[in-house]
Amino acid sequence: MSEQQRISRCLCGAVELKLVGEPIIMGLCHCESCTRWLSAPVHASALWSSDNVEVTKGEEFLRTFKRTPETGSHRKFCSECGSGVLIDHPTVNFTDIPAVSVVDLEFETHAHTLFAQGNFYP
Ligand SMILES: [Zn+2]
Ligand SMILES: [Zn+2]
Repeated sequence: MSEQQRISRCLCGAVELKLVGEPIIMGLCHCESCTRWLSAPVHASALWSSDNVEVTKGEEFLRTFKRTPETGSHRKFCSECGSGVLIDHPTVNFTDIPAVSVVDLEFETHAHTLFAQGNFYP
């Protein structure tokens, strides 16, 4: 049997990702950094192994925002529509995908997180 594959896309559709397999964990992040980044009361997060995430369209539209130079959280957004596309955590090889951007993903809350100002979510 082949592995589950899903597509994630930004609001305008310029950027698309291919996600293989299932998320490692899904949860709601209430931290100041995520909520301000998305201008939303929570960040519905689906964490994938970065090995299972591939940009299949519109890589040229992706821009990276790092809140501090040493942060482990590299937030990437679409320069066309401004949507948050992913948060790369290269030091731990995880990629956090805003769950609502993933087509056909049934979101479940496995965890609530509130990261204090720190390495991942400064
Ligand atoms: Zn877009
Ligand atoms: Zn957060």
